[in-house]
Amino acid sequence: MKIFTKEDLYNHELSLTYDDISLVPCEVSRIKSRKETNTECKFLDKKLLLPVVSSPMDSVTGVMMAEVLDDLGCIGIINRFDSSLDQVSNNEHHKISAVSISLTQDEETISKFAERKYMICIDTANANNREVLNKCESIKNKFGVKVIVGNVAQGSSLRQLVDAGADAVRIGIGGGSMCTTSIQTGIGIGQASSLLDLYFAREKENVDIELIADGGIKSPGDVAKALTLGADVVMLGRMLAGTREAPGEVIKYNDQLWKKYRGSASFGVKMKNEFIEGEETMIPYKGSVKSVIDSISDGVRSSMSYMNCFNIDELKAVNTFAHLSHSSYIERLPKK
Ligand code: IMP
Repeated sequence: MKIFTKEDLYNHELSLTYDDISLVPCEVSRIKSRKETNTECKFLDKKLLLPVVSSPMDSVTGVMMAEVLDDLGCIGIINRFDSSLDQVSNNEHHKISAVSISLTQDEETISKFAERKYMICIDTANANNREVLNKCESIKNKFGVKVIVGNVAQGSSLRQLVDAGADAVRIGIGGGSMCTTSIQTGIGIGQASSLLDLYFAREKENVDIELIADGGIKSPGDVAKALTLGADVVMLGRMLAGTREAPGEVIKYNDQLWKKYRGSASFGVKMKNEFIEGEETMIPYKGSVKSVIDSISDGVRSSMSYMNCFNIDELKAVNTFAHLSHSSYIERLPKK
């Protein structure tokens, strides 16, 4: 079997996603115990204990989720759809790192966020858009805060994003678990290929911008894969939805506990039947977000131990992948 490098996967003729590839441990590991591994990293100058950021969706990140993630050494980006942003802008005592805004967000509110040095995520479906670049440029010029833009699927406009002042970019169109964009529009490529495209574009353009793997991450193993494919952090929706700290009620139905999870472009968020590109669902209640973050940390540390990586920089430098046949992918899954 051929061992593929990042470059080989980048040059692959078909678009690939997490389930198409696997990490291959080729070295004798120096790591005695998983506990020796260190998952600390920096994202936009903030020190994190694990490279995880929550998605700014109304069923994922409200004030409670953002505060608890901050305590756990991750980042929660407050959504722009419910009353969370009002709570944050009216009260200075929240432990919040990042907020999301729409293209029409007023300057007074942005200036309040900037005073508190929050990172600002311009939450749009398509960052390859003149309006988004103008908004980014104006926030950078006026307030000098860190700005995250998104989303993009491919790296050809990376220099324009950087020139507009973007500090980080969300990568992924069509890969989110609630996303119907590809069905509605025919647009989007596999997440692994998207990440590699941005990773090599950043190298080629020699620009300074951080890469966020956004959408389609289902497991701690996918988190490890995203980091080896070039992401600096991962953005999680579904994996953090359904937890106690996610906004929304717990519902008992058919003797099981559930919470709502829905796309930002779903009918439930928009409340009108136009340009619907997101689904709505119920997912089993998961308890505390800490237990989810702990299990991601365990999985990533274990992956690092197999791959002979003491820290996240070494994990990001991993360059030995397999391209899985469909039956070897199936073989990897536990059987009932
Ligand atoms: P997940 O972690 O696979 O559930 O994906 C979460 C990501 O899906 C978010 O961070 C967004 O980038 C994307 N997303 C959220 N809502 C929608 C939607 O309604 N349509 C398309 N993509 C969405």
